[in-house]
Amino acid sequence: MEYEAVIGLETHVQLKTKSKMWCGCANQYGAEPNTNVCPVCLGLPGVLPVPNEEALRLTVLTGLLLNCELPRFAKFDRKSYFYPDMPKNYQITQYDRPSTANGFVEFELNNGLSRVRITRAHLEEDVGKSTHFERHSGLDFNRAGVPLMEIVSEPDITDSDMAYEYLNALKEILIYGGVSDCDMEKGMVRCDVNVSVRPVGTTELGAKIEIKNMNSFSGVRRALDYEIPRQIDVVKRGGQLIQSTRRWDDLAGITEEMRTKEHAHDYRYFPDPDLMPLAPTDEWLAAVKARVVELPLARKQRFMREYQLPAPDAETFKHDVPLGNYFEGLARQAKNPKAVANWVINNLRAKLSESSNRREEALTSSDDAHHESQSLLASAFTNLTLADLKFKPEGLLELVSLVEAGTISSAAAQQVFAEMFATGKSPSTIVQEKGMAQVSDTAAIEKFCDEAIAANPGPAHDFKSGKAAALNFLKGQVMKLSKGKANPALIGETLERKLKA
Ligand code: ADP
Ligand code: ZN
Ligand code: MG
Repeated sequence: MEYEAVIGLETHVQLKTKSKMWCGCANQYGAEPNTNVCPVCLGLPGVLPVPNEEALRLTVLTGLLLNCELPRFAKFDRKSYFYPDMPKNYQITQYDRPSTANGFVEFELNNGLSRVRITRAHLEEDVGKSTHFERHSGLDFNRAGVPLMEIVSEPDITDSDMAYEYLNALKEILIYGGVSDCDMEKGMVRCDVNVSVRPVGTTELGAKIEIKNMNSFSGVRRALDYEIPRQIDVVKRGGQLIQSTRRWDDLAGITEEMRTKEHAHDYRYFPDPDLMPLAPTDEWLAAVKARVVELPLARKQRFMREYQLPAPDAETFKHDVPLGNYFEGLARQAKNPKAVANWVINNLRAKLSESSNRREEALTSSDDAHHESQSLLASAFTNLTLADLKFKPEGLLELVSLVEAGTISSAAAQQVFAEMFATGKSPSTIVQEKGMAQVSDTAAIEKFCDEAIAANPGPAHDFKSGKAAALNFLKGQVMKLSKGKANPALIGETLERKLKA
């Protein structure tokens, strides 16, 4: 019998707010342990939580970005939590009335579109961090009470690649929406995997096994690549899988059992008596709706449609938002957006990354570098230097038209670009100053061609007797005579006409 995997993911995302979920402490990564704490997030007796409104907005915004429904009513519940990294001994979360539910995420997979349904996205709070030393453990409560959103998927995922792409799509959407920086290294995104197997062709779900402790999306993929064959092996040998939680050991590359049986009733959920239920007004919802942005996939598809870009170009602009915006500002006025895209991607981006590498080296130890590295996508540096460009964006349009009109060759255009990048001068000024304009003057080209043919009777003869390649040599000679300025297309035409005459 053949078996297939059924996978559902629970993704925890730290929200991009200034302060924590129930108090005014900073939501800040990397501070000295226990410096962003107060009686509220330390769970001292008698304190009362005050919800962070921006966190509520970001959760609803996520719902909108994930095509979810927005219930008119949501509430907070307490969930028993008995590990030392949470001083209250309960975690505030949303149990049966989450902020948003029933949506989907669409993403590209194997040249097609895949869809994973979203069960719900709800708001809760992060816990502190424990560090274990040889004879004692340390607790840092800076992270305790940081707004955390949990996004639960339906069990629609069928293999590890799909899980991986789903996570990347989700991450990109959240970054686009300004919901989270999703910095994996800082633990801003964490994911639990639920996986079961069943005979192909059946619909009943098998025993759900939850895997924890992956610290990257590729860790999720590897954990599934280990776990799915393991489960199939167990059932094929006649064994029985039971609902349980396993831990991924990244170094060993295996999952191992942590605990079996853990059910909702173990958590003793009950409504938090300190927090009012949420019933957003239409005005409040409208303000959140105004923050909805175009999603990454939609942007890519639109770039392909509106500017006739090939998929890899559109993909580049999807990943590098500022660069895409820069391109789009020009593409609207361009006759040939594809040519503009080539310059932006192949030349401008290359130059910017050269300079950002240098900048990064220069800044590595300063606070600035730290701040910048958490900015939007990997393009933070590109973003920064785009604003610093010396030439006006329209310069690129001019450059493209100069090439298309045959005023300069593509090779000369590279030099012009380097010059405009360095000095900010306009392409036409540079062409003029350096006398780079191509010679398209037919009389001059005729003369160069005659000279080249006269000086090279051998190759001329070869071409006449059918060796087409001999023409390239002659073209090169004409180019030399013109000091690299003759219009290559014209040289070719003129030489052929003369030799065939
Ligand atoms: P729990 O109540 O244990 O948290 P849920 O039903 O809420 O379980 O599901 C948690 C996650 O596990 C969801 O992402 C869901 O899609 C997934 N899931 C549920 N049952 C299965 C199963 N049998 N196999 C794989 N994934 C499952
Ligand atoms: Zn606090
Ligand atoms: Mg659940």
